[in-house]
Amino acid sequence: MPPNSRTREILSLLAAEYPDASCALDFRSPLELLIATILSAQCTDERVNQVTRSLFKKYRTARDYASAPLSELEKDIQSTGFFRNKAKNIQSCCERLDREFGGKVPPEMDVLVELPGVGRKTANVVLGTAFGIPSGIVVDTHVARVSRRLGLTEQNDPVKIEQELTAIIPQSEWIAFSHRMIRHGRRYCQAKKPNCRDCPLAKVCPKIGVAEGANALPAGPASKSPARRGESKPPTGPRSRARSAGSRGKEKGKR
Ligand code: SF4
Repeated sequence: MPPNSRTREILSLLAAEYPDASCALDFRSPLELLIATILSAQCTDERVNQVTRSLFKKYRTARDYASAPLSELEKDIQSTGFFRNKAKNIQSCCERLDREFGGKVPPEMDVLVELPGVGRKTANVVLGTAFGIPSGIVVDTHVARVSRRLGLTEQNDPVKIEQELTAIIPQSEWIAFSHRMIRHGRRYCQAKKPNCRDCPLAKVCPKIGVAEGANALPAGPASKSPARRGESKPPTGPRSRARSAGSRGKEKGKR
């Protein structure tokens, strides 16, 4: 379904503000991005990049992760938080990659989501960023929050949010849209203090759920749940981060 005029304007404003949005996680291969994305859960990208700087020198292949003593891998990723669970998932995931896929990351959503520790969000990050495959829209905490405030969805569940976003946004925009929305959530539309006053999307944003506060301007013209008014919301539909050259600031973010 083609985007309506308000959605087109949101896409256009995001593209103008974040023309070169890309992944803020450092990686040189799909395997490194997969590992970094698993580590990024409940952790800032900055911290993940600190950890992976030495991790990626020590572990170069899926087999390296699979064959390492679990306690050693735990220690190597400890500062990213939830390290026991992450280490277990990374090791199980890499065992399968090594055993079934020759150590390579398969560029297929159905296969990726079957790997330990890999959900749709991680799979979408890897497919979109490492392979350039627009498999869906990455719905992390930023994309979910900004989408609701913009009135693009009323859902809370990431899978439902992704379904609704992919139904109204052209597939060719899915990868860039994910990166730009994450960037926007960090720069302007932060959870506690959205900077609506300076936000480049303010004129098209109904600011749904944003309390009137110091930075929040009155809601834009598209108020009162545009997801219900202008946006098409079929119940089902097709269902895949970021540092831009034009960045004005350095962001930290949790996925
Ligand atoms: S106007 Fe406010 S609520 Fe809307 S996207 Fe911008 S910062 Fe977020």
